[in-house]
Amino acid sequence: MKTKSIRKNKVNVVTMGCSKNTYDSEILMAQLKANHFEVHHESQEQSEIVIINTCGFIDNAKQESIDAILQFVDAKQQGIVDKVYVTGCLSERYRTDLEREIPEVDAYFGTRELPRLLKTLKADYKHELVGERLLTTPNHYAYFKIAEGCDRPCAFCAIPLMRGKHVSTPMDQLVMQAVQLAKQGVKELLLIAQDLTYYGLDIYKKRSLAELVTRLSDVEGIEWIRLHYAFPAGFPMDVLDVMRERANVCNYLDIPLQHGSTSMLQAMRRGITREKTEELLDAIRQKVPGIALRTTLIAGFPGETEQDFEEMMGFVERSRFDRLGIFTYSHEENTHAYSMTDDVSDALKQQRADAVMELQSGISYELNQAKIGNTYKTLFDRVEGDYFIGRTEFDSPEVDNEVRVTRSPDVYVPMGDFSRVKITSADHYDLLGEIV
Ligand code: SF4
Repeated sequence: MKTKSIRKNKVNVVTMGCSKNTYDSEILMAQLKANHFEVHHESQEQSEIVIINTCGFIDNAKQESIDAILQFVDAKQQGIVDKVYVTGCLSERYRTDLEREIPEVDAYFGTRELPRLLKTLKADYKHELVGERLLTTPNHYAYFKIAEGCDRPCAFCAIPLMRGKHVSTPMDQLVMQAVQLAKQGVKELLLIAQDLTYYGLDIYKKRSLAELVTRLSDVEGIEWIRLHYAFPAGFPMDVLDVMRERANVCNYLDIPLQHGSTSMLQAMRRGITREKTEELLDAIRQKVPGIALRTTLIAGFPGETEQDFEEMMGFVERSRFDRLGIFTYSHEENTHAYSMTDDVSDALKQQRADAVMELQSGISYELNQAKIGNTYKTLFDRVEGDYFIGRTEFDSPEVDNEVRVTRSPDVYVPMGDFSRVKITSADHYDLLGEIV
């Protein structure tokens, strides 16, 4: 019987989860293109091959990835798709279970198995392409992964199980990638890692984020550098000097803090107390006045009492974050916290998360009102209905505020470029303005 060979044909890459997965998908897509595959990202078009880059972080995210796998397995059974491959965190973490429960998938790959995935498609891993990507974001901004993995012992977190130990990417390689991206028209780099502030401790034996950001800031064409996923304990204060001194380093910091009660922070093995966290926030705001702070919290960690929750509410009220997101605790196998009793009910977890977001929406509204009358350098991402949609340096794509400018025949706003916007009104999460 003649075996059906894999023709060099259409591949649809589907990305689940976080910006680090987006980065990995972009690397994969560049490799596939260099091997003469026609590559699409999350295309509705028919493709012979589908590669799903999954997320295995917490319950909801895992379920979304499983649903995507089942959707494409179904398409395969209907003859719409020839091959379905699964890679990424869910596959790294649950490969044996997935192979048993969804055997219709042609092959499963882990988070560090790109060469083997390519080989399975009869493609070569092109070493000369290291760091090169096919962007899936608008061409004027790019997620910029500076390290893989994490050495931290956070009790609730399964990421080290899926991404391994912290490995920094050498600085020269990153600078070369930034130069390449700038040549492609990228103006904004969003620096990401599991723990951005750990950068360099492995390969340079010292915290090197400040030096890296300085060198990236020197790259011609890069107008905004944004820092995501900083860790509070051992925070490298010198990076704030670079942020203050360099106009193209956004006065913006994403620093997940996870909780606002010292006993919960200790149970979570975060290596810091609430008091020390508040001192850090004060020091950051003193070093970079007007900085926008984004954080992420968890509601309902095992053992969280009403008093812990009240302490977190007080912390959120005092800290007045510019942006805040909150997850409900997910009891993840093989994490340190899995040995604890998941004693906060799902309903109470959700109730506490809602209460924090209710409090935060009021804070966000007040902070936004204070922006009315100010003028901001704004990067425009897209047109949506009657509006040009952009962001100030205080807003990261997809997660933060947006600036809306009403479209009209006599107003020209170049997409993917900067314009100055005077804010005329604001609501809880968005700003409205006019071009000046
Ligand atoms: S620093 Fe982040 S990725 Fe690392 S273990 Fe903690 S929560 Fe997980």
